[in-house]
Amino acid sequence: MIKEIKDNHLFWDGCDTVALAKEFGTPLYVFSVTEIRTQCRAIREEFLSRYENTRAAYASKAFNTLAMLRLIDEEGLSLDVVSGGELYTAIQAGFPAEQIEFNGNNKSIDELALAIDYGVGRIIVDGSQEIGLIRALCQEKQRKAKVMFRITPEVNVQTHAFISTGQKDSKFGIPLDEEILFPLIEEVIDAPEIDFYGLHFHIGSQLSDNHSHIAATEAALALVLEIHHRFDYTVKELNVGGGFGVRYTEKDIRQPYSYFLDPVMATIETFCQAHQLQRPTVVIEPGRSIVAEAGISLHTIGTIKTLPQIRTYASIDGGMTDNIRPGLYQAEYTGILANRAAEAATETVTISGKACESTDILVKDLQLPKVETGDLFATFATGAYGYSMASNYNKLAIPAVVFVEKGHAELVVERQTFQQLIQNERIPSFLMKE
Ligand SMILES: *Cc1c(COP(=O)(O)O)cnc(C)c1O
Repeated sequence: MIKEIKDNHLFWDGCDTVALAKEFGTPLYVFSVTEIRTQCRAIREEFLSRYENTRAAYASKAFNTLAMLRLIDEEGLSLDVVSGGELYTAIQAGFPAEQIEFNGNNKSIDELALAIDYGVGRIIVDGSQEIGLIRALCQEKQRKAKVMFRITPEVNVQTHAFISTGQKDSKFGIPLDEEILFPLIEEVIDAPEIDFYGLHFHIGSQLSDNHSHIAATEAALALVLEIHHRFDYTVKELNVGGGFGVRYTEKDIRQPYSYFLDPVMATIETFCQAHQLQRPTVVIEPGRSIVAEAGISLHTIGTIKTLPQIRTYASIDGGMTDNIRPGLYQAEYTGILANRAAEAATETVTISGKACESTDILVKDLQLPKVETGDLFATFATGAYGYSMASNYNKLAIPAVVFVEKGHAELVVERQTFQQLIQNERIPSFLMKE
């Protein structure tokens, strides 16, 4: 168990969180390396070693740092990046180019040039304009790009609308319209600068039901067959995206990878046999499910405000700046007092952030022991989209990140300093004091 309670303290992957807070300060992100490795192993056991010709690319936007990318490489997964900055980090981490997939609905020329120069394994094209850019760059550089098309499979998904991406009216993906999609496919099959691999979809995030993955797979397979008929071309690869849900609170159901992927693979294999098609390589892109539950955030409780008969607010030394998900899409979290972890709950407290926004509430109406200023609050499952969405709003510094494994702790991102907050700022000459 990576979570333990000993001597009234919360321990995370063998490390006393109270000691971590003392050594590294708060707010602090703490990631269990053991838990990340466990998730990678689950992907290997339930998918990669169960099915031939498969690949798993960690969707690094969930948490993209040098240390994390090294760990993912060591665990033998591929990597998905969605920007020049994420790609640059991957290059700096020495991530093998062939194992990188580049997604994004508006890649710039500079980003595409960086990807082509580094020789990334796949460029996942999100629209018609991008093909023209890639071909021009490849001609100029005398290179060939390995390309997939992200399609919009037109399925609706049981998740928050703000994290649903597979419906027709979406900024993501190429629509299944005949006049848009088929001319593009014909173009890339023929283009000398392009190695066309196949199709990609990603339909949404935090899913606990496999129906939308299966429906999207069926839509993609119909397209695979149509491409075969029209162009006598067999799609080599099908990427079914990520979106596997995690457990933030007791309300959430976390399904194993096999719950999603066994029926997806059965659907693909049955279809390919029925139509005598070679089964494409199948790729998944999990982000959240690899890191979310490995990460916790530690905050120190400051001001406590009690409104009799209404609510008690306990404010922490961070908030929406290190975890914007509650404010962004009403995401729910839970947590405990890490320094009094074995004590019984006696009151209802709302944990609020210190940013100047009323939506900066981390956890509403949580049962806790009587909270005191100076207590250490631990929020669970903040590993995905916490650090990666952190901001400097109110000029709060972005917290440090620590990796812990079996009792050993190591800093992997230093806390921002005030000096770093202004290092790119300049005073124009007309405002200089002499
Ligand atoms: C965000 C994203 C993922 C990962 O989604 P999770 O819900 O974090 O698993 C995978 N593929 C693409 C293209 C994405 O944009």
